[in-house]
Amino acid sequence: MKRCEYIPAKTLSEALDVLSEAGDRAKLIAGGTGLMSAIMAGRAETPEIFVSLHRVRDLDYVTLASGSLRIGALASLRRVELDDQVRASFPALAEAIAHIGSLQVRNVGTVVGNLCGASSSADAAVALLSIGAKVRIISKQGEKDVDLADFFTGPARTVLGRGELVKEVVLPVASNRTAGAFQRVSPRSALDGLMVAASTATTVTLGAGGEIEDLRIALGSLAQTPIRAREAEKLLKGQKPTADTLEAAGQAATRESQPVEDIRGSAEYRKALARVLVKRTVEEAVRRAQSSARRESVA
Ligand SMILES: Cc1cc2nc3c(=O)[nH]c(=O)nc-3n(C[C@H](O)[C@H](O)[C@H](O)COP(=O)(O)OP(=O)(O)OC[C@H]3O[C@@H](n4cnc5c(N)ncnc54)[C@H](O)[C@@H]3O)c2cc1C
Repeated sequence: MKRCEYIPAKTLSEALDVLSEAGDRAKLIAGGTGLMSAIMAGRAETPEIFVSLHRVRDLDYVTLASGSLRIGALASLRRVELDDQVRASFPALAEAIAHIGSLQVRNVGTVVGNLCGASSSADAAVALLSIGAKVRIISKQGEKDVDLADFFTGPARTVLGRGELVKEVVLPVASNRTAGAFQRVSPRSALDGLMVAASTATTVTLGAGGEIEDLRIALGSLAQTPIRAREAEKLLKGQKPTADTLEAAGQAATRESQPVEDIRGSAEYRKALARVLVKRTVEEAVRRAQSSARRESVA
């Protein structure tokens, strides 16, 4: 068995020092649920050094400030799933997290770890892509924001460079005419994290006349990384959600999907799921946005 060093960093600055010095020899862990299962399954190498963030408690937060919700690198999936602001403003995220593994996995695993694992089936990542989240990256040189849509570069790969880590994910809080929904189809039980056949999250903003003013559709397990279904988005933008426009968008998402063929399902089956899930999540997001707009006009 390969020997390795375990460094529980006490501060963010200590974690950054070790990461920048050790480069590829070190691997960061937050909850460790994603990385340890990847190592055990032979999908990742055991690093020389594990740098754990779990003692850096000031990264464990979910806060609302200046029109944005900020989720710190140590906020557990369960904490975010149960957060009142998340449930009210970002139901797609709460729904996506509720699908992840078991209660034990959600108590230990983090939202930021879900993003940084860069799996095409990462449920929280798919929801956050539809929400238009940004990732705040920190290194010894300073901080920068990257759109989540530009964060993934391939399976298990991100734009993160040597000495960089994700400090937090930032979600824009939108108007009451905005709402989202998430759905996934998995042929196996919740504990088979990598057994997702396909998932979709949609966030819509309705215009005053009930048309779709803006929307983002994200697809999971339908390409090498979570992706936006931009052609489907274009077809729906400015349109009323009718059976015809929804069908056209579902078919566009099928064309945009490039799923791999594996034990989770054939490429053909997963493309068919893209069509169905896009239609369903757009419909559900629109229904939620309509009812929250109605509540606003009554209040
Ligand atoms: C039984 C089981 C079932 C699961 N089911 C699901 C499922 O249904 N859906 C799903 O999406 N996932 C699932 N997972 C995967 C995993 O639990 C989640 O992705 C979880 O959110 C990972 O968070 P973590 O904190 O444990 O990440 P870690 O394992 O600590 O890290 C994951 C990766 O991200 C990197 N990383 C972590 N934090 C940072 C940071 N702040 N900055 C830079 N890089 C960082 C690590 O180096 C590593 O490469 C499952 C896992 C298990 C063991």
